[in-house]
Amino acid sequence: MDKIVVFETYYNPIEANIIKSRLMDSGVQCFLSDENMITINPLYTQALGGIKLHLFEKDVNTARSILQDEDVQIALGEATVDVPESQNGDTQNDQVCPNCGSSNVGYVQATKKRFSILTMIVSILLLVYPFAAKKTNHCFDCGYEFE
Ligand SMILES: [Zn+2]
Repeated sequence: MDKIVVFETYYNPIEANIIKSRLMDSGVQCFLSDENMITINPLYTQALGGIKLHLFEKDVNTARSILQDEDVQIALGEATVDVPESQNGDTQNDQVCPNCGSSNVGYVQATKKRFSILTMIVSILLLVYPFAAKKTNHCFDCGYEFE
Protein backbone atom coordinates (compact mmCIF):
# COMPACT_ATOMS: atom_id res chain seq x y z
CA MET A 1 0.00 0.00 0.00
CA ASP A 2 1.53 3.28 -1.09
CA LYS A 3 1.59 6.11 1.35
CA ILE A 4 -0.46 9.17 0.43
CA VAL A 5 1.05 12.55 1.30
CA VAL A 6 0.00 16.19 1.05
CA PHE A 7 1.89 17.48 -1.96
CA GLU A 8 0.90 21.12 -1.75
CA THR A 9 -1.69 23.41 -0.19
CA TYR A 10 -3.56 26.00 -2.24
CA TYR A 11 -5.68 28.94 -1.24
CA ASN A 12 -7.49 29.27 -4.54
CA PRO A 13 -9.80 26.49 -5.77
CA ILE A 14 -9.12 27.38 -9.42
CA GLU A 15 -5.38 27.08 -8.97
CA ALA A 16 -5.79 23.81 -7.11
CA ASN A 17 -7.91 22.36 -9.89
CA ILE A 18 -5.46 23.51 -12.58
CA ILE A 19 -2.62 21.72 -10.82
CA LYS A 20 -4.73 18.64 -10.25
CA SER A 21 -5.75 18.49 -13.92
CA ARG A 22 -2.17 18.97 -15.04
CA LEU A 23 -0.97 16.07 -12.90
CA MET A 24 -3.87 13.80 -13.85
CA ASP A 25 -3.16 14.49 -17.53
CA SER A 26 0.38 13.29 -16.93
CA GLY A 27 -0.81 10.11 -15.28
CA VAL A 28 -0.20 11.14 -11.69
CA GLN A 29 -3.10 10.07 -9.52
CA CYS A 30 -4.10 12.80 -7.08
CA PHE A 31 -7.08 14.33 -5.35
CA LEU A 32 -8.07 17.48 -3.50
CA SER A 33 -9.51 17.77 -0.03
CA ASP A 34 -11.50 20.56 1.59
CA GLU A 35 -12.33 21.74 -1.91
CA ASN A 36 -16.11 21.92 -1.75
CA MET A 37 -16.26 23.98 1.38
CA ILE A 38 -13.85 26.51 -0.04
CA THR A 39 -15.52 26.71 -3.42
CA ILE A 40 -18.83 27.44 -1.76
CA ASN A 41 -17.36 30.03 0.55
CA PRO A 42 -13.76 31.16 0.00
CA LEU A 43 -13.85 32.90 3.36
CA TYR A 44 -13.24 29.53 4.95
CA THR A 45 -10.05 28.96 3.00
CA GLN A 46 -7.78 30.34 5.66
CA ALA A 47 -9.69 28.72 8.48
CA LEU A 48 -9.28 25.27 6.93
CA GLY A 49 -5.67 25.84 5.98
CA GLY A 50 -6.31 25.79 2.26
CA ILE A 51 -7.06 23.07 -0.26
CA LYS A 52 -4.74 20.12 0.09
CA LEU A 53 -3.50 18.26 -2.95
CA HIS A 54 -2.84 14.63 -2.07
CA LEU A 55 -0.86 12.13 -4.08
CA PHE A 56 1.16 8.97 -3.60
CA GLU A 57 4.51 9.51 -1.98
CA LYS A 58 6.21 7.69 -4.84
CA ASP A 59 4.82 10.27 -7.30
CA VAL A 60 6.07 13.37 -5.49
CA ASN A 61 9.24 13.75 -7.55
CA THR A 62 7.35 13.08 -10.78
CA ALA A 63 4.78 15.72 -9.91
CA ARG A 64 7.48 18.27 -9.10
CA SER A 65 9.22 17.78 -12.43
CA ILE A 66 5.93 17.99 -14.35
CA LEU A 67 5.09 21.30 -12.76
CA GLN A 68 8.60 22.64 -13.28
CA ASP A 69 8.41 21.81 -16.98
CA GLU A 70 5.11 23.65 -17.11
CA ASP A 71 6.67 26.70 -15.54
CA VAL A 72 9.39 26.82 -18.17
CA GLN A 73 7.01 26.46 -21.09
CA ILE A 74 4.82 29.26 -19.90
CA ALA A 75 7.65 31.64 -19.25
CA LEU A 76 8.33 31.53 -22.99
CA GLY A 77 4.79 32.51 -23.92
CA GLU A 78 4.17 34.93 -21.13
CA ALA A 79 5.37 38.01 -22.99
CA THR A 80 2.28 37.94 -25.19
CA VAL A 81 -0.14 37.95 -22.29
CA ASP A 82 -0.98 41.22 -20.65
CA VAL A 83 -1.93 40.61 -17.06
CA PRO A 84 -3.42 43.67 -15.39
CA GLU A 85 -1.33 44.70 -12.47
CA SER A 86 -4.30 45.00 -10.18
CA GLN A 87 -4.97 41.30 -10.67
CA ASN A 88 -1.59 40.32 -9.33
CA GLY A 89 -3.23 40.66 -5.98
CA ASP A 90 -1.90 42.08 -2.79
CA THR A 91 -2.11 39.37 -0.21
CA GLN A 92 -1.21 41.77 2.53
CA ASN A 93 -2.41 45.23 3.39
CA ASP A 94 -2.18 47.68 6.21
CA GLN A 95 -5.79 47.34 7.28
CA VAL A 96 -6.68 46.85 10.89
CA CYS A 97 -9.88 45.12 11.89
CA PRO A 98 -12.30 47.74 13.26
CA ASN A 99 -14.00 45.06 15.32
CA CYS A 100 -11.12 43.54 17.29
CA GLY A 101 -8.12 45.65 16.29
CA SER A 102 -6.22 42.72 14.78
CA SER A 103 -3.90 43.35 11.84
CA ASN A 104 -4.42 39.76 10.69
CA VAL A 105 -6.56 41.00 7.81
CA GLY A 106 -6.47 40.20 4.12
CA TYR A 107 -8.45 40.16 0.91
CA VAL A 108 -10.47 36.98 0.76
CA GLN A 109 -9.45 35.97 -2.76
CA ALA A 110 -5.76 36.20 -1.99
CA THR A 111 -3.82 33.43 -3.69
CA LYS A 112 -0.44 31.88 -3.25
CA LYS A 113 1.40 32.50 -6.47
CA ARG A 114 3.85 29.74 -7.23
CA PHE A 115 3.81 29.34 -11.00
CA SER A 116 3.78 32.00 -13.64
CA ILE A 117 1.24 30.11 -15.76
CA LEU A 118 -1.08 29.83 -12.85
CA THR A 119 -0.71 33.48 -12.04
CA MET A 120 -1.79 34.20 -15.57
CA ILE A 121 -4.67 31.74 -15.75
CA VAL A 122 -5.96 32.54 -12.31
CA SER A 123 -5.83 36.24 -13.09
CA ILE A 124 -7.93 35.73 -16.18
CA LEU A 125 -10.39 33.46 -14.43
CA LEU A 126 -10.70 35.87 -11.54
CA LEU A 127 -12.28 38.34 -13.92
CA VAL A 128 -15.33 36.08 -14.10
CA TYR A 129 -14.97 34.44 -10.74
CA PRO A 130 -18.02 35.38 -8.67
CA PHE A 131 -16.00 36.59 -5.74
CA ALA A 132 -13.39 38.48 -7.71
CA ALA A 133 -15.20 41.79 -7.84
CA LYS A 134 -15.82 41.73 -4.14
CA LYS A 135 -12.64 42.93 -2.52
CA THR A 136 -13.77 42.53 1.02
CA ASN A 137 -11.34 42.73 3.87
CA HIS A 138 -11.66 39.74 6.10
CA CYS A 139 -10.36 39.54 9.66
CA PHE A 140 -8.91 36.10 10.28
CA ASP A 141 -9.06 36.53 14.02
CA CYS A 142 -12.72 37.35 14.56
CA GLY A 143 -14.21 36.87 11.08
CA TYR A 144 -15.41 40.46 10.76
CA GLU A 145 -15.63 41.86 7.23
CA PHE A 146 -15.33 45.45 6.15
CA GLU A 147 -14.53 47.62 3.13
ZN1 LIG B 1 -11.24 41.12 13.95
